[in-house]
Amino acid sequence: MSRIESERDWIEWVTAKTRRRDARVLVGPGDDAAVLRPAGSSQEIVVTVDSIVEDVHFDGSATPYDIGWKAMAVNLSDVAAMGAVPATAVLAIGAPETWSADALQDVMRGLIAAADAYAVSVVGGDFTASPRGLHVTVTLIGETRGVSPVLRSGANPGDALFVTGPLGGSITGSHLRFRPRVREGRILAERHGATAMMDISDGLGIDATRLARASGCELRIESALVPVSEAAAALARTSGRTPLEHALGDGEDFELLVTLPTSVSEQALADPDLTGLTPIGRVVEGSGARLVDADNERNLEEYGHEHSIRHG
Ligand SMILES: [Mg+2]
Repeated sequence: MSRIESERDWIEWVTAKTRRRDARVLVGPGDDAAVLRPAGSSQEIVVTVDSIVEDVHFDGSATPYDIGWKAMAVNLSDVAAMGAVPATAVLAIGAPETWSADALQDVMRGLIAAADAYAVSVVGGDFTASPRGLHVTVTLIGETRGVSPVLRSGANPGDALFVTGPLGGSITGSHLRFRPRVREGRILAERHGATAMMDISDGLGIDATRLARASGCELRIESALVPVSEAAAALARTSGRTPLEHALGDGEDFELLVTLPTSVSEQALADPDLTGLTPIGRVVEGSGARLVDADNERNLEEYGHEHSIRHG
């Protein structure tokens, strides 16, 4: 690759550089988490890492507690997307001098509250100065406990497509203190045989496109079925965009996008532990993700955020 311009280019470049034969690595870069089987173990673990950075993932309106919560919760969401059980975490914080000890303690209080809420032990970390902007990085390990991890690549033509809750408008607040779908992800994997799953971090449009690409299928999403959050509807009153456009493109929803065999769809929709589960479309032969209605269809790839990489 000659030029790296996006997060996707970056992941492809690193994946090529790090690819090697290693029996412990069942899934490498490119999914919500890596899947490993430590030598001598009969069980797999999943590992993920995510950073949140001041003025990229939060701004001055976020409380320190919420920043800490989010730093843990984004990682919990990735473990949830594998159908695994979150277990242990290590973290790294880079803090500028402008951040007081009190404020940093509040960051840690939020982070530990999120860890406690999901029975995660924080087992180590690193603290460093930062010349500009706070950043908090968490590495989270999850346990599969006898349930095969659900990858992005497992969707099959004929499967039905679902999300676990309403989308859009997260910028109005829900992108900070959200509840990662750990319980729902585990139930979808263990009880209902989910074939593919990921969390919606960058927007349904681009994330559905990624799942389609990984599975080698086409996802067809019916526009009338996409659950639109109240926040998306409220934003649309002033943004000049429609509620649906917010639902497709805002991102940081941290709901799960999941495919199930049609034979178990009804049973999953009737599961009292999956009250937010909403059918939005289906998987067919082909490629890409499309939004369809009665007389129109369009590609979904343009809806969502991909972090760009600047050349200096
Ligand atoms: Mg993810």
